[in-house]
Amino acid sequence: MHGNSRLSGVMTQSAYDVVIVGAGIVGAACAYEFARHRMRVAVVDGDVVGSGATAAGMGHIVVMDDSDAQFSLTRYSQRLWQELRPELPQAVEYEQCGTIWVAADAEEMELVSRKRDYYRKRDVPAEVIDAGRLAELEPHLKGGLAGGLLIPEDGVLYPPCAALFLIQRAQELGAWLRLGSSVVEIAQGRVLLSDRSEIRGKIIVNAIGSRAPELTPGLEIKPRKGHLVITDRYPGFVRHQLVELGYLKSAHSMGADSVAFNVQPRKTGQILIGSSRQYGAEHREVDQTILARMLERAEQYVPGLGALLAIRTWTGFRAATPDKLPLIGPWPGDPSVFLATGHEGLGITTSLGTARILVDQITGAKPEIPIDPYLPSRATKEYAHAH
Ligand SMILES: Cc1cc2nc3c(=O)[nH]c(=O)nc-3n(C[C@H](O)[C@H](O)[C@H](O)COP(=O)(O)OP(=O)(O)OC[C@H]3O[C@@H](n4cnc5c(N)ncnc54)[C@H](O)[C@@H]3O)c2cc1C
Repeated sequence: MHGNSRLSGVMTQSAYDVVIVGAGIVGAACAYEFARHRMRVAVVDGDVVGSGATAAGMGHIVVMDDSDAQFSLTRYSQRLWQELRPELPQAVEYEQCGTIWVAADAEEMELVSRKRDYYRKRDVPAEVIDAGRLAELEPHLKGGLAGGLLIPEDGVLYPPCAALFLIQRAQELGAWLRLGSSVVEIAQGRVLLSDRSEIRGKIIVNAIGSRAPELTPGLEIKPRKGHLVITDRYPGFVRHQLVELGYLKSAHSMGADSVAFNVQPRKTGQILIGSSRQYGAEHREVDQTILARMLERAEQYVPGLGALLAIRTWTGFRAATPDKLPLIGPWPGDPSVFLATGHEGLGITTSLGTARILVDQITGAKPEIPIDPYLPSRATKEYAHAH
């Protein structure tokens, strides 16, 4: 818990049921969900809506099988996106293009079978495709690949516009939004802004992504840098989100910098090329070495990529937790503070599920999925254990 000293002698602006700090996709989804439950909601962001990792992310709405807990939250969230789909404006660019997990060789085809079994057992459509079908579906992939796994219900959207849509929905339901105001402290139902004004809420939600420890000291979240490149418009050049099976190795590695082939067709006809993961690189600048490695990897799978015109390259920071699961729920250090952070590379997908289970915890409703794996109390136990 923080000391109270910085909170004394400031003007109290108003009282809300919930004050959400951070208007990235997670804060935006929470704002909408709380507002739907007729709670008085305030949202504060130091920048604009969807400016953090949300502006940098790929927007792949993907079901993952890394752990049962990860599966459960990604699948639940994907269903929520599908339900919301008819209401999403064009600008959100939601497209159910499907994912193909690409297998380079026979060994990876074994992984494909295991992955298919895992998904099918849990009612996720999944189709094993052989080399011929892969070439038919994605003619620009190199020859000689073994096949892959097609997950047809995965999709893609444009994250900043999705965040804006969710915030606008929350505002229509009465939520109050303040942008360009950094929060310097949260404690005991109070949110202190950098201009020394204060907002009160019965509940404060820390949804500032990779910077969450700045407002909740002791939180074990590390920024994990990622690079992306976007090309000019080449409609149909790739048709599905294409990811190498080795992607999981890259996402798991806790130490070394890693790159993996991960390419996405945008509704605009552009191609988004990823992805890299780095710990300890806290500057926004593009790292030319990592970028070159990432593009080289992508070209190994799609040789024609090198001839396309890249128009922009950028970086962003994922909020990584030690056990690779997000933190959703009450922070044991302060009964007024709830966390909605730590989503690493899946926060666009899992924003909607996060918001639902956070609100369930507060309203006492029965969550649709087991929530224990995401509770922040697990992190403090681990922390206490490790120190
Ligand atoms: C390269 C890359 C690719 C990715 N690809 C995907 C993908 O394909 N699919 C997927 O599901 N996820 C993906 N992700 C992950 C996803 O982008 C994040 O998990 C998600 O955007 C996190 O959202 P957030 O709202 O928690 O945080 P953010 O989007 O970072 O939002 C935090 C907000 O808090 C504000 N803020 C920060 N500090 C303060 C403060 N002190 N006071 C007030 N406001 C503050 C910021 O201005 C920001 O608006 C990717 C991430 C990266 C980096």
